[in-house]
Amino acid sequence: MNALTVPFGVSSRARSLPPLDGKGFTVARSQGARLFDTEGRSFVDYGMAMGATLVGHAHPEVVEACTKALENGPMPGFPNDIEEAAGAALARIGGARVTRVTFTTTGTEAVHLACRIARANTGRRLIAKAVGGYDGWFDPVRFGLVESAEAERTNERPVKEDTTLFRVNDIGDLDALFEEMGGDLAAILVEPMLGNTGCLVPERSFFEHLTRRARENGTMIIADEVMVGLRRGVKLVSEDLGLMPDLVTLGKAIGSGVPVAAVLGTPKAFEVVEDGTVPCFGTYHGNPLVASAVLATMKLLEDQSHYTRLFDWGAALRRAVEDAFAAEGITAITTGFDSVFSLWFTDKAPRVYEEAKAKVRPEATKQVSDSLRRHGVVGLPSPWGRYFISLAHGEAEMEITVNAFREAARDLAR
Ligand code: PLP
Repeated sequence: MNALTVPFGVSSRARSLPPLDGKGFTVARSQGARLFDTEGRSFVDYGMAMGATLVGHAHPEVVEACTKALENGPMPGFPNDIEEAAGAALARIGGARVTRVTFTTTGTEAVHLACRIARANTGRRLIAKAVGGYDGWFDPVRFGLVESAEAERTNERPVKEDTTLFRVNDIGDLDALFEEMGGDLAAILVEPMLGNTGCLVPERSFFEHLTRRARENGTMIIADEVMVGLRRGVKLVSEDLGLMPDLVTLGKAIGSGVPVAAVLGTPKAFEVVEDGTVPCFGTYHGNPLVASAVLATMKLLEDQSHYTRLFDWGAALRRAVEDAFAAEGITAITTGFDSVFSLWFTDKAPRVYEEAKAKVRPEATKQVSDSLRRHGVVGLPSPWGRYFISLAHGEAEMEITVNAFREAARDLAR
């Protein structure tokens, strides 16, 4: 029986780390690239608040901006003078094409709102999302992560709560989707990188084809950039990879650890927001506390040299990780970006979800993450093994991490 008031001690199961060697793991403080647990141990962190703390935990400039907002009253309950400034700063991500912004509190809500906007624009209900993609925990979009197995079994394209599925990097499947349901499709919802499928990156040719087919069918494109937003620079990751979205969802990194998310859209897509067809509510949306965090984050990221360092550091880490396993005769590769990647025990990155499912090795991933933890490094407890890097990861962290991966590779080879 669970004696805790909060079941499992955490309100998001994605956050719980099981005990290791008889010791639990409870964080007392997070600072820069480090976590300090309640026993005073220090860990280099690669969970980085599930990707939210791209600038590092408790960045002083974000803390200062949030402190000021708290002192001024975090929640006046009427229009505040920071929200528009934060929106304008955030809109820089969308460039000249995707220029409108509205805030929500979580990424899940941003996806929910983006779907509503797409439905209001098209007069259609159906949304198609990627098999193996994670777009939040509301019921309709959870479909696909947990129920794609059913689709595989029956070999039919299931529809549930106005949501259906398609397969990333499978042009035949995408064409079949449009042939079967094109006239009913309000939107395609897709991440520019499937984080929950081990950082599976859609191919440019797939994204360009998707953009074309969507335009031909009057279907909107929602790029779910909640996880990857800001991880390739102050720009849309989707556009960088060949997808032209009408709507973009952002969250995590935009607030550096405070709960804020947003929907970005083209002026055309946002007409239904501006004329009130799609009402936006939410007590906390865009309050001065979160808007201050967004402003401070965007200001920090104006400095391109941060990104240069981040990408160089990440590329060096990926090489070192692959080398650590190679030195023990274990084939391992990393997939994704230099700011967030997954580790695979295979010589070729999976292209499609089925391949990824066949190649994932949860036991090896768990063994590696346990070894890493014993040597002062923690990451997300996901079977797909994902590593988030921040601006705060530096030389000292590199040394600890590379040493920990060498130990983990040795353990795995035993
Ligand atoms: N979309 C993607 C791609 C995500 O990675 C997540 C969270 O991990 C969400 C949506 C949901 O965001 P939140 O957890 O803030 O509701």
